[in-house]
Amino acid sequence: MKTQIVSLVWGEDKESKHAKLAQAGEVIKNGGLVAFPTETVYGLGGDALNAESAKKIYAAKGRPSDNPLIVHIADMEHLEKIVREVPENVRKLAKAFWPGPLTMIMKKSDIVPYQTTGGLDTVAVRMPGHPIALIFIRESGGYVAAPSANLSGKPSPTTAKYVIQDMDGRIDMILDAYMGSENIGIESTIVDMTSEIPMILRPGYITQEMISSIIGKTDTDVTIFDNASNEPPKAPGMKYRHYAPKGELVIVEGEPQKVVNYINEQTKLHAQKGEKTGVIGTSEMIRNYQADSIKDAGRHDDMLSVAGRLYTFLREFDDENIAYMYSESFASEGVGQAVMNRLLKAAGHRCVKL
Ligand code: AMP
Ligand code: MG
Repeated sequence: MKTQIVSLVWGEDKESKHAKLAQAGEVIKNGGLVAFPTETVYGLGGDALNAESAKKIYAAKGRPSDNPLIVHIADMEHLEKIVREVPENVRKLAKAFWPGPLTMIMKKSDIVPYQTTGGLDTVAVRMPGHPIALIFIRESGGYVAAPSANLSGKPSPTTAKYVIQDMDGRIDMILDAYMGSENIGIESTIVDMTSEIPMILRPGYITQEMISSIIGKTDTDVTIFDNASNEPPKAPGMKYRHYAPKGELVIVEGEPQKVVNYINEQTKLHAQKGEKTGVIGTSEMIRNYQADSIKDAGRHDDMLSVAGRLYTFLREFDDENIAYMYSESFASEGVGQAVMNRLLKAAGHRCVKL
């Protein structure tokens, strides 16, 4: 398949942008697939109400088809059509955080095919905060099913470069647009609104505290951090290995000086064997490390900066053929909780505590 790469340039006039997005919308309406930017990561979109489109998404990603897709909408009226009812708490959260990086799970209506929901009676819905995404969704008929636009198992793409690397030849079109300085860089928070006490299934930029401040008590799925838990994850996708670089990543936790010493000992041993190494560290610490590739994640008190760079670092390590990577550990509060969740998954839960 020939993939059309359509660039939307910063400062391009409205009509020209709109014409390109209308063309992308036609592709979706005709059952095709289009990768598009959002404020979290790039999405791989298809018509959410067309079972064949969902099948194509799974095929393009190489993703197991029991892993449900998120339905992206641009207008509240559209929500009513795809869910059985809109609970009061959903309205409150939508008012507070949509458009934005929050996905809510509700009971699906009959028009949503089971192929889109991975066989479930529930559907995950989000209204993304990126202006290009909103126009594209409206031009597509209002309902765009999309997982992240990476091959299954790889880190989610935050730039068109990595979408092209994974999806060129596999989908109809890639919309290449500047994600904006507000770019969040990790996937949306997912909250299940069907349980009596709403349950966070995947942490993200919208934190549990932010959600609870609007609707009161919420829970967090225990499987998010506890790898040893025997319970199956409530968000089906969470059981799959995700976000992983090709090499081996280890998280190192402890006093700063001990962390530096440990990492430098390890990178030295690898260097002696001719193996390439990488380090992800905070700005305050970065000059102390010795490795082939050293990534500055931002200040330790700026978790948004770490979130925004994390997936790019993992992809760059792959490009640089890094075999062994070490990352500092980050504070598990607020957005830091989402950062640590993704980092632990990328590391396959390998964590050294000093
Ligand atoms: P993404 O990881 O961004 O591709 O988003 C898809 C993820 O959303 C899936 O892997 C699931 O973890 C989650 N998800 C989507 N729909 C549902 C649902 N109905 N119930 C629970 N989790 C869901
Ligand atoms: Mg994904």
